[in-house]
Amino acid sequence: MKSSELSGFYRKSGEGRWQVIRNFGELTDAEIATIGNTGALDFDQVDRMIENVVGTMPLPLGIAVNFRINGTDRLVPMAIEEPSVVAAASNAAKLARVKGGFTASTSGPVMIGQIQIVGVPDPHGARMTILAHRDEILSIANEKDPVLVKFGGGAKDVEVRVLQTARGPMVIAHLLVDCRDAMGANAVNTMAEAVAPHLERWTGGRVYLRIISNLAVRRLARARAAFDKEAIGGEAVVDGILEAYAFAEADPFRCATHNKGIMNGVDAVVIATGNDWRAVEAGAHAYAAWKSGGYRPLTTWEKDANGDLIGTIELPMPVGLVGGATAVHPTARANVHLLGVKTAQELAEIVAAVGLAQNFAALRALATEGIQRGHMSLHARNIAATAGAVGHEIDEVAEVLVRERKVRMDRAAEVLAHIRAKRK
Ligand code: NAD
Repeated sequence: MKSSELSGFYRKSGEGRWQVIRNFGELTDAEIATIGNTGALDFDQVDRMIENVVGTMPLPLGIAVNFRINGTDRLVPMAIEEPSVVAAASNAAKLARVKGGFTASTSGPVMIGQIQIVGVPDPHGARMTILAHRDEILSIANEKDPVLVKFGGGAKDVEVRVLQTARGPMVIAHLLVDCRDAMGANAVNTMAEAVAPHLERWTGGRVYLRIISNLAVRRLARARAAFDKEAIGGEAVVDGILEAYAFAEADPFRCATHNKGIMNGVDAVVIATGNDWRAVEAGAHAYAAWKSGGYRPLTTWEKDANGDLIGTIELPMPVGLVGGATAVHPTARANVHLLGVKTAQELAEIVAAVGLAQNFAALRALATEGIQRGHMSLHARNIAATAGAVGHEIDEVAEVLVRERKVRMDRAAEVLAHIRAKRK
């Protein structure tokens, strides 16, 4: 029997690892070559990023056009495998330009490090004791990252909460760290660990967790755009979008998909710039649930006095330009160069604007023709290719599937067979 228990896999070279997976999965040489193709990266670079590397997983990289954010035009790189997302963002950005594009801002790049203290007999007293040591805590934390402090960042404040839990009261200290142009997880975690023994000493409790919170409520990115009612299809479209928004506000089943549509755009830019999209995802959905005590949309939609549509977005945006993969991944670096951003906050503003654009595009499509029509032609091409169509056959098969409104594998195979038979 095959065993997945492999000791020393990490010590093997690329060749050695390919050998193992080739045998285990009975892979062909072509499959190994595909997996092992590292594209724009050297194998050594990839091998340094994660463990047990065998290759890379390429994603399509597209450019969203038409974005004007705070008066500056941007071409926005988006890495995503889902059809229609880049086109929808570009289209929404074009419509937003009619009224000047997006305005965006941030709350500042402050992340929260949590330190969990248990076994404190007087949790409220301990809270006061910790707060009384605020300046000492900040200097212990900041000693750990003089570079961050030099750039104007570092630990800035301390907050303490007493939490009632299933295992009794806990004292939770929050270290508020200005991370400047870093996402900050490593910086914050290091600071939280440095502070922890002192908190134990002062409170008489025992520290367990010392880690960043992804509910980054002090690192928000915000954007606003006005959409001219005539440009987007008239009053009926504005009202349709407001109906769709009200539905999402009232119903978590709809809201999950509303926010997913936003994250289509957000994640694509976050990934293209080498950032931690899991952190952004976790923060976005936690924020959507936290800010008003129930799971709600990350955007708002209203009609102004002219009857034009006003959209806003606000969500945590822990993205960086230094640290993690952002500075070592050559494609991410090139994408950041293309964006022309100089600070993580500028990047966060762009990501928020793309999220808002994506939401507008999805709601407009849903409220008018339905989402599938736009999706279908690209989806049909994927189905055609999956059914075995190659080259110009892909478009021929896709066209029939869309025309017949039967975008299905079985029909694609039939149409392909028919086209090939005709050719013979
Ligand atoms: P990092 O530690 O690699 O780099 C950040 C450091 O760069 C700063 O601490 C500072 O010393 C230095 N620096 C230089 N110029 C700077 C500038 N202009 N602004 C700010 N700092 C500057 O990276 P990081 O951002 O601390 O950590 C990010 C990584 O942590 C990501 O890869 C993420 O996936 C990972 N991570 C995330 C979590 C999570 O829960 N979200 C947890 C652990 C790790």
